[in-house]
Amino acid sequence: MPYTNLLAPLDLGFTTLKNRVLMGSMHTNLEEIPGGFERAAVYFAERAKGQVGLIVTGGISPNDEGCVAAMAAKLSTAAEVAHHKIITDAVHAEDGKICMQILHTGRYGYHPKSVAPSPLQAPINFFKPRELNHEDILRTIDDYVNCAVLAKEAGYDGVEIMGSEGYLINQFIARRTNHRTDEWGGDYENRIKFPIEIVRKTREALGENFIIIYRLSMLDLVEDGSTWEEVVILAKEIEKAGATLINTGIGWHEARVPTIATMVPRKAFVWVTKKLKSEVKIPLIAVNRINTPEVGDDVIGDGCADMVSMARPFLADPELVLKAMENRSDEINTCIACNQACLDHTFQMKISSCLVNPRACHETALNYHPTQNPKNIAVVGAGPAGLAFAHVAAMRGHKVTLYEASDKLGGQFNLAKVIPGKEEYGETIRYFQKMMEKYQVHVKLNHRVTSEALKSAGHDEIILANGIVPRTLDIPGADHPKVVNYIDVLTGNVSVGKKVAIIGAGGIGFDVAEYLSHQYHDEDTILTFLKEWGVDHEHKTVGALQRAAPAPSLREIYLLKRSTGKHGASLGKTTGWIHKASLAAKKVIMLADVQYEKIDDTGFHIDIKGEKQILDVDHIVVCAGQLSSRSLYDELTQSGIHAHLIGGAFEAVELDAKSAIHQACSLAAGV
Ligand code: FAD
Ligand code: NAP
Ligand code: SF4
Repeated sequence: MPYTNLLAPLDLGFTTLKNRVLMGSMHTNLEEIPGGFERAAVYFAERAKGQVGLIVTGGISPNDEGCVAAMAAKLSTAAEVAHHKIITDAVHAEDGKICMQILHTGRYGYHPKSVAPSPLQAPINFFKPRELNHEDILRTIDDYVNCAVLAKEAGYDGVEIMGSEGYLINQFIARRTNHRTDEWGGDYENRIKFPIEIVRKTREALGENFIIIYRLSMLDLVEDGSTWEEVVILAKEIEKAGATLINTGIGWHEARVPTIATMVPRKAFVWVTKKLKSEVKIPLIAVNRINTPEVGDDVIGDGCADMVSMARPFLADPELVLKAMENRSDEINTCIACNQACLDHTFQMKISSCLVNPRACHETALNYHPTQNPKNIAVVGAGPAGLAFAHVAAMRGHKVTLYEASDKLGGQFNLAKVIPGKEEYGETIRYFQKMMEKYQVHVKLNHRVTSEALKSAGHDEIILANGIVPRTLDIPGADHPKVVNYIDVLTGNVSVGKKVAIIGAGGIGFDVAEYLSHQYHDEDTILTFLKEWGVDHEHKTVGALQRAAPAPSLREIYLLKRSTGKHGASLGKTTGWIHKASLAAKKVIMLADVQYEKIDDTGFHIDIKGEKQILDVDHIVVCAGQLSSRSLYDELTQSGIHAHLIGGAFEAVELDAKSAIHQACSLAAGV
């Protein structure tokens, strides 16, 4: 059997999990919409069918006050049980197991009824919480227990009590947010009474044969968080109180350390779970940036944990475990940790999905059924759009020929994957490469297609996914040898000097700045990452925070834009701050409201609010946006030949890989 550590069953005494993989909790917003439970049931059942050992739902509040937003999902009355039963029935029909996460958001609740141990507003929330009084606290503990009892009635195999990421329980535990002087505050013993009582009373109410996972914040990554000694005390008490498993929590939502984004190295935080391993007897679950069976197997094999939690990887591929079991891990659509369609959507109150798998959370709407009418289809361009289309169309039974002008598949993802911290984007190319082989797409590399060739080839359908051309500069000196574009920089065609100006501060401008500023070193990447972001790898400090020690930039870099306002406004909702912080730490100079005047041998002449400057730089890298490649389409249309446009070829402004792949899959599902 492959992955002998990961795929071994886990005996919990009263029940056995079929393997060591937990699908971690994700709030998808399906919980919040009419018909959402029916959709969630199909979504979870697909993952259960894909053989995941145990599923945890998104967070469900035990009462009104604990909801993520006003009127958001809760389970506090018998009337709400039936909805959840739709989910548990569907998962059990696939022989799966599922726990419901009980999440009380405390001061993170986006609504005026939010409560907390002390009335301290979170830095990431507009609402100030009301302080819970003693009676409120006792009632809230009972609400957790009631919620767990109702979850059992709804058919869940267990519950996960969310005690980390800075939510209510964490707010009780940490001095940072608990300023009480009564029996629920002050000493650590008092501050942890709240979670211990919740676990103890839940176990008492539900008996032995029910899974209770406690998600314990092992690294708070905020000032006045827990010390390691406190983490150990809490873990032992939680074990005593009756938890079945302890899951790891890393970082509060308000922490300024990236914990799951793509620049976080794989398994960057499993060392902290390992540190706890010898302190308790119940199984531990390791989390964060575990995205392949290989990594999961190593984590367990290295003795870091008994189980691994993967959350987003199950959006990217519901069959992750099944493929691992069948030794087909090269067919796994790997989560690249971009957050663009999952977490960014969640925080924008949209339904979560996945950039590399737009079916995620849309399983009832987007399906790839075998075609009754096989066609001969030409796809032009093997970027994300062309590859996604070719994959789905060929899987449905069409005969697909994929033409690519360059010598490789992947389009702009070949540029994205060379950005430090975006290496995962190479996994998407690997996945599509495998799918082209599996579904026998006829791939023609080094084939720049012309409209003449397409006209004579006799295809039933023509899909133009031929991408974009970079926008060029239109100022005096735009053709000066100092001026280069991002493609030449990222493909290594030009060797960039020590002083650089980047024109355009969109996604690509930021990525190019990261690329040009970055120093490569041989040191362990996890340790380097932790040091750069100020994480105390030995957890000797309070909250595991220490002074950040970012590596200095290799170059003096100016990141310029014409518009006013702060840099990075167009970047991802949950990742933009990381890119900004990273460049700020490397002292990249960000200039806004800039007019570009000319480029000559003396440098780059600019005007900032009437003040003229000459930037004495070696190179000016143009990252000024992109334009759709429309000439093929126009030529075909003029000849009366119909073609479909997708991806960058369809729309370059505001285009990203998420919309390119979504558009391609939607078209291929119906062609
Ligand atoms: P492309 O990827 O441009 O692919 C078009 C393909 O068509 C190319 O391979 C080209 O060679 C081929 N082609 C062109 N003409 C012909 C012809 N006549 N015959 C045959 N083949 C032809 N997006 C995100 O969502 N998230 C990110 O984090 C992200 N990071 C990025 C980082 C960088 C550095 C860059 C450059 C882009 C990034 N993007 C990102 C943007 C993303 O890569 C694009 O939105 C996406 O690649 C568009 O896909 P596409 O298939 O439409 O076009
Ligand atoms: P972009 O995000 O639209 O940024 C283009 C930049 O060029 C803007 O900052 C704009 O700034 C500037 N610009 C536009 N016209 C110009 C002109 N005529 N002269 C000088 N400057 C000009 O596009 P991009 O950076 O090329 O990225 C392309 C796509 O890839 C984007 O849609 C993006 O979503 C995607 N991408 C995403 C990520 C990610 O991390 N999510 C990373 C990379 C790329 P001013 O108008 O202010 O000057
Ligand atoms: Fe992973 Fe990106 Fe998909 Fe989210 S959107 S699941 S981070 S690949």
